[in-house]
Amino acid sequence: ITPPAIPLDQPFYTGCQTPPRNTSARANAVLVMLARNSEVEGAVASVKSVQKQFNDAFGYPWVFLNDKAWSEKFKEKFEVIPKEMWTYPSWIDQNRAQQSMHDMQNRHIQYGGKESYHHMCRFQSGFFFDHPALTPYQYYWRVEPNIRFTCAITYDPFHEMAHHAKKYAYTIALWERGATVPSLFRKLSDYKASHQLPTSPLWTAMLDPSWMPWPLRRALSVLPNRDSGGDLWNMCHFWSNFEIADLGFFRSVAYRDLFAFLDRDGGFYYERWGDAAVHSLAAAMLLQPHEIHRFADWGYVHDGLQVCPEKGGEGEEEEGGCRCECKKGARVVEPVSRILSRKRRALSSVISHS
Ligand code: GDP
Ligand code: MN
Repeated sequence: ITPPAIPLDQPFYTGCQTPPRNTSARANAVLVMLARNSEVEGAVASVKSVQKQFNDAFGYPWVFLNDKAWSEKFKEKFEVIPKEMWTYPSWIDQNRAQQSMHDMQNRHIQYGGKESYHHMCRFQSGFFFDHPALTPYQYYWRVEPNIRFTCAITYDPFHEMAHHAKKYAYTIALWERGATVPSLFRKLSDYKASHQLPTSPLWTAMLDPSWMPWPLRRALSVLPNRDSGGDLWNMCHFWSNFEIADLGFFRSVAYRDLFAFLDRDGGFYYERWGDAAVHSLAAAMLLQPHEIHRFADWGYVHDGLQVCPEKGGEGEEEEGGCRCECKKGARVVEPVSRILSRKRRALSSVISHS
């Protein structure tokens, strides 16, 4: 495969701006956190970080979602998720679902045996944007408990996304764990073919083998994650615990139809499809590269992984953040763009020596 020429997305700004730039023209946007009652402390830490680094100056509203009634400890705006958004659809074969979860548990697939996690992934894939608390808004920023932003965010990302016609934005792209999504890619590529959807350059990029380290490639080749032409998904996906999106993308007929197709298949339960893989492959299928933004100038930490555009810091060539303080000890995730150039070199040397 010849990797497609995807122009690299530039930061909206580099360095510090004088906030607030746009409070008068504030976007129709909301900060959204899904959390469990047990996560109060992590939720508070996340809110503090977002408020300090960004929202004290911009004043966007928050919505907090839970599938259970909120405990007294949570103080802001609490919303309960309607039952029908957090349960099995009627057509799921309960025996098969229980058996699959049991098997995934035995195979140590992370969260594979946890029923609530499957409901969560399905909710985040197909329902959150229709939650009544979010219907007034066009943009949303997803915040998870126990995240941290390590640079000051001194401009309004919602405003910039609108201005640049961006539909989806991320900070970290990673490889998905293949065992959680064995049949997802094949099903989506068949869907794409049967609906005669055009091939976006992003979709082609998802097939670029040079994005995939060799051992991973070998391990994955046993899964049915090839399209009918034999090409393998390189497992690249956006880490969706942070994302800023134009909710119009998720509310579009094209996305809804695609989600309905996946939901009908049952892979949210028979496998452990994550919303990150679903959002990413849907974006790759339905969006153009210029509609996707990477916040290369933001520092973000979650679960021991981070990106950090600190000058002279571990983020190396990534600069342009404002007042960054990277977290010591968290693993630095390389941007795919950099992995790509390194892997391509490695790849060509492997080929030329074999
Ligand atoms: P990971 O990021 O995939 O490792 O999983 P997390 O444990 O961080 O869960 C992802 C998100 O879903 C977080 O916002 C959690 O608070 C939320 N979440 C997961 N399971 C549940 C659940 O059963 N109920 C609620 N209300 N939120 C959940
Ligand atoms: Mn998480």
